[in-house]
Amino acid sequence: MSLSGKVALVTGASRGIGAAIARELRSRGARVAINYNSSREAAEALRRELGEGAEIFKADVSKRQEIKKMVEDVVRTFGGLDIVVNNAGVMELMPFEQLDEERFDKMWYINVKGPIYVTLEALPYLKRSRGVVINIASIAGLGTALTNTTYYAVTKAAVIMLTRRLAFDLAPYGIRVNAVAPSWIETDLTTRGRTREEVERAKSDIVNRTALRSVAIPSDIAKAVAFLASDEARFITGQVLVVDGGRIDYLTHSV
Ligand code: NAP
Repeated sequence: MSLSGKVALVTGASRGIGAAIARELRSRGARVAINYNSSREAAEALRRELGEGAEIFKADVSKRQEIKKMVEDVVRTFGGLDIVVNNAGVMELMPFEQLDEERFDKMWYINVKGPIYVTLEALPYLKRSRGVVINIASIAGLGTALTNTTYYAVTKAAVIMLTRRLAFDLAPYGIRVNAVAPSWIETDLTTRGRTREEVERAKSDIVNRTALRSVAIPSDIAKAVAFLASDEARFITGQVLVVDGGRIDYLTHSV
C-alpha cells in the first residue's frame, strides 16, 4: 500500500487521531500537509518527527477563507494534492434538553462545514489528480447510546451522508470518497475535563461492549485511512469503514 509520490492533507493533525494518520501516510511515502488550528507547538513537533516531506499549515476548518488559503499554500509547497483526510473535529457533550446553541453551532461548523469547505477548496486539485477524500466520522453517527452525545452524533451522521453523496457527486471526476467510523479512543477529545479514574471507567465500559475486548488506538484508524487512500481501494467509494472491534451492543451499525 505504497503512497509514494502522493501528497496528503490531514486536517486536525496536530494531535490525536490526525497525528497518527499523518505519521502513517508519511511512513508509506506520501508527503504530508499537517493542518492545525491552535496547537502550533504540537504540529511543529510532528513536522520535526516526520522530517522532510512534511509541512505544517495553520487554518481553522470552519472558516472558508482560511481553508482556501491553506489549500493554495499546500499545493504551492508540494506541487499538487492527491489525498484529503477530513479529520479535524470536536465533541461538545450536552443533554438533548439543554441545547447550548453556541456550542452546537461550533461543533456543526467544525465537524460538518469543515469537511465541506476543505473538499470544495481542494476539488480543483483533486480533479487533476483523480484523488481521494476520506472523512473521519464516528460510530456515534451510526447510532450509539452514549450519554449526552445526541448533538455530536447528529454532526457525524451528517458526515456519513456527506460521504455517500460526494461519492456520487465526485465519481465523474474519478475521485473516491469514503469514511472511517472509529469507536472510543483515548485522546484529548475523550479525556478533556475528566479525571484518570473517569477515563478508566469509560474505557472499561467500552471494553465490556466490544467483541475483541479492548479499545482502539489511533494507529488502528490511521491504517484504515491508509488503505482507503491507496490504489488497493481503487474500486471502493461511498463506504463507511467501521473500526470498532465489533461493538456487541449494536450489531446493526455496519452499513
Ligand atoms: P483531538 O485529540 O481532540 O484532536 C482534535 C484535532 O482537531 C486537533 O488536531 C485540533 O487541532 C483539530 N481541530 C479542532 N478544531 C479545529 C478547527 N477549527 N480547525 C482545524 N483543526 C481543528 O480529537 P481526536 O480524538 O483525535 O478526534 C479526531 C477525529 O476523530 C474527530 O473528527 C473526532 O470526532 C473523530 N472521532 C474520535 C473518536 C475518539 O474516541 N477519540 C471516536 C470517533 C471519532 P488544534 O489543537 O491545532 O486546534
